[in-house]
Amino acid sequence: MAEILKGKPVADAIKADVALRAERMKAAGRQPMLAIVRAGSREDDIAYENRVIRNCGEVNIETVNITFPADVSHGIFTDALRSLSEDKGIHGILVLRPLPDQIDSGEAGMLIRANKDVDCMNPENLRKVFTGDASGISPCTPEAVIEILKFYGYPIRGKNVVIVNRSLVLGRPLSMLFLAEDATVTVCHSRTEKLSEITSGADILVSGVGRPEYFGREFVSPDMTVIDVGINFTEKGMCGDMKYDEVRDIVSAISPVPGGIGTITSAILLRHLIESVELGI
Ligand code: NAP
Repeated sequence: MAEILKGKPVADAIKADVALRAERMKAAGRQPMLAIVRAGSREDDIAYENRVIRNCGEVNIETVNITFPADVSHGIFTDALRSLSEDKGIHGILVLRPLPDQIDSGEAGMLIRANKDVDCMNPENLRKVFTGDASGISPCTPEAVIEILKFYGYPIRGKNVVIVNRSLVLGRPLSMLFLAEDATVTVCHSRTEKLSEITSGADILVSGVGRPEYFGREFVSPDMTVIDVGINFTEKGMCGDMKYDEVRDIVSAISPVPGGIGTITSAILLRHLIESVELGI
C-alpha cells in the first residue's frame, strides 16, 4: 500500500514558518499586506478569495480587497493594478483568474511589479524560472510539487520525472524546477504517443491533464511516486486525474485529491508574500 502524501502537514509547516516571519515584521513596524483583485462575482473566485483571506488571517497577514463589476473596463482595471504596484503599503498582488474577456491578462500581468507578483503573472518571473535565476517568484503549483517531495523525503536528483501537462501554469515551469533539482525530465501532452509506456517508466509521475480518474494501472508501476495535480469535479465530488483506489495499490507513494497539492499551493502564496516583504518593497 502506498504512502499517502497528504498536503496538510506540508502546508501547516509552511504556514507556521510564515506566521513567525510575519509576526517579526509586524513587531518591526511592517505589516505584511496582500491585495486581492477581483473582476466579477464568480462563485469559485469568491470561494478562493475567502480561503486566501482566512489563510492570511491565520498567519498575521492582512488583506485588502479590490473588487470590480464583471464589465469593468480594461483601463480602470489596469489603472488599479498600476497604483497597487506603486503603493508601498502593499507587498503582494493576487489577481483572480480567468479575467473577463475585455481585460488583456497579458498586459495586466506585466503591470504587477515583479517583486509583488505572488502568483507569477509577470513574464519577468517566468523568465527567471526558465533561466534558472532563483531570485524570481515561481508559480505556486509547480513550487508545491517540489515542496511535497522534499517534505516527505523523496529524492529528486537523478530521478526520471514524467510530467503530463505542458501549460505555462504547470508543466513548463515545473520542468524547469525539476531540472534545477538535477532530475531528468520528460514533458508529455495530448499528442504524446505511447503515453502509458512513457509514464510507467517514471520514478516520479506528475499528472495535470484535468480529466477525472484518467490514469489507471497501465500508466504506473511499483516504486513510483505519483503527484496528482488535477482538480476535477464530478457528480461524486472532487477528484484528481488518477484512479486513486486502483493506483494506490500499485505505486509506492501518491498525493490525494482533495487534500494534496491544492492545500500546499495556497500556503506557497503566503510564503511568496512574506518573501516580497523581506525584499523590502
Ligand atoms: P490546461 O492548460 O488545460 O493543460 C492541460 C494539459 O494536459 C495540456 O498540456 C494538455 O495537452 C494535457 N492533456 C490533456 N488531455 C491529455 C491526455 N489525454 N493525454 C495527455 N495529455 C493531456 O490546464 P492547467 O491550467 O495546466 O491545469 C491542469 C489541471 O491542473 C487542471 O485539472 C487544474 O484544475 C489543475 N490545477 C491544479 C492546481 C492546484 O493547485 N492543485 C493549480 C493549477 C491547476 P495539450 O497541451 O496538448 O493540450
